[in-house]
Amino acid sequence: MRVLLVEDDPTLRAQLRAGLHEAGYAVDEADNGRDGHHLGASEAFDAVILDLGLPVLDGISVLKRWREAGLTLPVLILTARDSWHEKVAGIDAGADDYLAKPFHMEELLARVRALIRRAQGLASPLLQCSALTLDTRSSRVTLKGQPVTLTSHEFRLLAYLMHRPGSVVSRTELTEHLYAQDFDRDSNTIEVFVGRLRRKLPPDTIETVRGMGYRLVTPP
Ligand code: CA
Repeated sequence: MRVLLVEDDPTLRAQLRAGLHEAGYAVDEADNGRDGHHLGASEAFDAVILDLGLPVLDGISVLKRWREAGLTLPVLILTARDSWHEKVAGIDAGADDYLAKPFHMEELLARVRALIRRAQGLASPLLQCSALTLDTRSSRVTLKGQPVTLTSHEFRLLAYLMHRPGSVVSRTELTEHLYAQDFDRDSNTIEVFVGRLRRKLPPDTIETVRGMGYRLVTPP
């Protein structure tokens, strides 16, 4: 999963970046509203963390422009403490959730997880596909109750597919959603990780759809 972080405070941005990386997200970031708006409008993200008080272009304007352009990606806004009018303005501008500063990283991560799964119509933090279970809270995967050991890349790939069971996901989409912009993107890398992941899962869990991509096979 790939997250866009738009925050001008360098200390907070560094903390958020570290927490998101640790939780397995690819992160792109901007320190002003104009760059943040551009990134959100031109790149593929699974969620956005958007500060409202930003230089050049404020967060509410960024959000309004995205929504006016038809962008539906989930947005969590960061508001000043006790500023109820900011929350109202943000939600009215199209925010999906808000968090008042200061906040705990765990709460931010929980809200981001919820936004990402709700965007896929998933209500539970436990994702299931046949005997395979992925807990988005602990980043643990089990097969018939037994833990499956995955590298961070394998986990990110499986998590993306498990958020979209039964859907064909192209290699390009995977590359865009698993890596940040500055990552050396090579679609062969995806093939390698799919190969490694397949060896750890029951046969035929990940189907190759010729010329289109991959699909996590769900039981009928
Ligand atoms: Ca700010």
